[in-house]
Amino acid sequence: MIDFSDDINIGEENEKEIVSASVIKSDEGEASLRPLTLDEYIGQDKVKENLSVFIKSAKMRGEPLDHVLLHGPPGLGKTTLASIIASEMGVTIRKTSGPAIEKPKDLAALLTNLNENDVLFIDEIHRMNRYVEEILYPAMEDKHIDIIIGQGPTATSICLELKNFTLVGATTRSGQLSSPLRDRFGIDLKLELYTPEELKQIVERSASILGVPIDSDGAYEIASRSRGTPRIANRMLKRVRDFAQVYGNGVITREIADIALTRLEIDACGLDAMDRRLLTSIIENYGGGPVGLETIASTINEESITIEDVCEPFLMQQGYLTRTPRGRCATKKAYDHLKIPYIGAMGT
Ligand code: ADP
Repeated sequence: MIDFSDDINIGEENEKEIVSASVIKSDEGEASLRPLTLDEYIGQDKVKENLSVFIKSAKMRGEPLDHVLLHGPPGLGKTTLASIIASEMGVTIRKTSGPAIEKPKDLAALLTNLNENDVLFIDEIHRMNRYVEEILYPAMEDKHIDIIIGQGPTATSICLELKNFTLVGATTRSGQLSSPLRDRFGIDLKLELYTPEELKQIVERSASILGVPIDSDGAYEIASRSRGTPRIANRMLKRVRDFAQVYGNGVITREIADIALTRLEIDACGLDAMDRRLLTSIIENYGGGPVGLETIASTINEESITIEDVCEPFLMQQGYLTRTPRGRCATKKAYDHLKIPYIGAMGT
């Protein structure tokens, strides 16, 4: 029997971080876990099948791939897929992000330095400012950029021709993309949350790369509690490995995974402390809803963007929460999960 009497203090911040799908410090070794080819990329079958046709046909025509927009919650594999697109096309990828491109000239420098058919990856493309965005329109459509040199009456506009390139944009909020930008992407791919079976394969693959012994039930336990997100699954794998090393013989079994994840406040259905706080508050303070996002965010003292991007996709997909025009509602499944008697929510 394993001795768990020696408490590991994971701290409140760590508890929060482990379930956040955004990149945190302990993800630094993430690059080594990234699949390098479409075949290695697990799940997202529809996206993969379509993408493989588009890549093959572009290669047959000797043309660059059309511009690609990838959208979906953080940690689902958008950056990974962008690198795979470049390697399958046999070209180089340059990576940047919307907020990092401050001025039109920064984007002009990136675009003019690309080689023929290269991929330019812009993460969080919805956060690019409008002046920068306008440079992209002619670049994406007609392979040129217009640059204004000088000021006032002496200002002149010069047109720079660009090489062929593929823009891959990633966004967690496709609704915030302006329609002129969105319309210029020929390929629009939406990534979905992963099933536990797919995540199990991802956990097993990562464990073998990291040299962590894990059995099939242990991998499934981590997978089914990772809110459909590979980044979280990989992070949990590393944390469960810590428990397995300190308290067990290093092998991740279902028992070790269950104990470690329970200590990290992730329950058997994969809900974390913030999910439960959100649902409990909707039920106890607002009669099950409907309640507006801003109201609930200030009640539980979280940023509304975190609730929208991190909690809601998983809670809605699992049927704990619905969004109505009048606000968020907890479903009967949420009441049952939290063991609160269901009296019928006002909005449902
Ligand atoms: P995003 O850009 O959507 O935030 P990333 O591409 O950075 O997500 O993926 C996060 C991590 O999850 C990567 O390091 C990678 O190891 C893993 N990952 C994502 N998608 C897959 C997949 N389909 N198969 C295997 N691992 C994946």
